[in-house]
Amino acid sequence: MSALINEQLYNILIVEDDPVNIDIIVDALTGRYRLFVAKSRAKALEILSHKEMHFVLLDVGLPDGNGFEICHTVIENEQNYGLPAIIFMTGMDNPADEARGIELGARDYITKPINNVVLRARIKLQAQMLRQTELLSNLARIDGLTEVNNRRAFDDQLRIEWNRCMREEQSVSLCLLDIDFFKQYNDRYGHPAGDECLKAVAQSLSATFKRSSDFIARYGGEEFAVIIYNSDTEIAERLVNNALDAVQAMCIEHKSSTVSDYLSFSAGICSTIPDELVDTDDLIRCADTALYEAKARGRARVISNELE
Ligand code: GH3
Ligand code: MG
Ligand code: MG
Ligand code: MG
Repeated sequence: MSALINEQLYNILIVEDDPVNIDIIVDALTGRYRLFVAKSRAKALEILSHKEMHFVLLDVGLPDGNGFEICHTVIENEQNYGLPAIIFMTGMDNPADEARGIELGARDYITKPINNVVLRARIKLQAQMLRQTELLSNLARIDGLTEVNNRRAFDDQLRIEWNRCMREEQSVSLCLLDIDFFKQYNDRYGHPAGDECLKAVAQSLSATFKRSSDFIARYGGEEFAVIIYNSDTEIAERLVNNALDAVQAMCIEHKSSTVSDYLSFSAGICSTIPDELVDTDDLIRCADTALYEAKARGRARVISNELE
């Protein structure tokens, strides 16, 4: 776990007005985390509204405010300030304050004078918990069999990509692809062999669509979806045809297919520059119509469709 933590540099905002305390904290944490310092409530909120912070070390007594109120403000305004884990620091050795901080949503509480070993240990524990949460949430977005993104991740990504392309006036392409005669494949070679095919197709797609902005997902049983950012119909068609060639070049025998000796897929593409008149459902429907047409015209082919 610690190896993973070193790979990930978390951002920590130190909200503290006492220069001696700032020095102690900075000395204890430098090199392990990216540190930001705010000596007032105003500065703290300004930094939080501009930069994502993973942790906030929060003093209770500040010249222009009180830590409890700041904690409340931050937690109530996730849109503006994100969702940092807040850790209170105070000299007041008062159990009521400790409880109050936790009730407001703080994760932990460190008493002053600050001991650098204790501080490091507590931040490390928080970082481990955050890392575990991140790993779990990543796992919840991955398809267990093929290890590409699952349907839930696809739905989120399509919305994000759609909005991004609308803002940037860029085109986005969606490709839906479906393996040909896959029921017959399972019937002939068995379900475990079918599973191996799905894994092989997912790997092949990952090798073809290798730009960091390409997004591959298992859309359903033997259907995959690819979101291609900033690509018009022509580029998308070329890429998906390359993907079809690559899958056929694996030469996975499929004697029950009437279109090819080897495993193939059919694909439908829809490319568009998003605007307010259409939405992601229209894009999916458009790509799905093209896929249906690819099946109807004989399978093992790629068809594009325009949004009306
Ligand atoms: P078409 O060319 O028209 O797409 O025909 P098809 O046989 O591929 O279409 P159909 O939708 O009738 O069959 C899809 C098959 O995919 C049926 C189902 O058993 C199989 N399938 C879906 N998910 C999985 C899976 O996780 N593993 C395996 N091995 N098969 C699956
Ligand atoms: Mg203070
Ligand atoms: Mg299907
Ligand atoms: Mg199929």
